[in-house]
Amino acid sequence: MTDQDQGLPPLTDLRSITRGESACLRTKVDIVDEHDRHAWLIWGAAQISKQGRGAGGRWRIEGRLAEGVTDFEHDAPYAVRLPVIGLALDDIGVLGHVAHFVAWIDPSDEEGFCVPDPGYDPISDPRSTRCTDPRCENKGHIIVPERNFVPPPNPRLWRQVAGRQVAIIVGLDWERVERIAAGHASASTASAAKKRSRR
Ligand SMILES: [Zn+2]
Repeated sequence: MTDQDQGLPPLTDLRSITRGESACLRTKVDIVDEHDRHAWLIWGAAQISKQGRGAGGRWRIEGRLAEGVTDFEHDAPYAVRLPVIGLALDDIGVLGHVAHFVAWIDPSDEEGFCVPDPGYDPISDPRSTRCTDPRCENKGHIIVPERNFVPPPNPRLWRQVAGRQVAIIVGLDWERVERIAAGHASASTASAAKKRSRR
């Protein structure tokens, strides 16, 4: 059976359009399916904020579009907004500077569920423009089309996942950190060898 047959959504990888990716920051959201985990969302830096007051409460887990990208009002747009309830650290807690959370997709917030389908990319949208405001410090940056400040609500996907348990992982992409460190190490070894060969 495919994932779709079991009612699980496909993987939506937003790393190429979200901020924090180049700094090895990573956010992953898996759907907890019995004892398995189904990889669902992945992007760069996370923003986690409480909505309203009181114990427990409702939370939003969000990621913004890449550095420098704005909407027409020069605000930093979102690539994903996932409303959840019952957010807590799971049994692992924080390990190696990576935090492991558990939560449930808020079954009462269809309007706030702004999670795109795979392929969402307002940065590459042909209606995107470049900033020409002479007062702008970052002139030439990309301005996404109107109504892309937050991805549109996604009722079809919401019906598929509302109320489901999710596992959220927020921290560093250690594999990538180590790959970069290894690259630097081999690059400096190569340049040292070059210097020696010149003598
Ligand atoms: Zn600007």
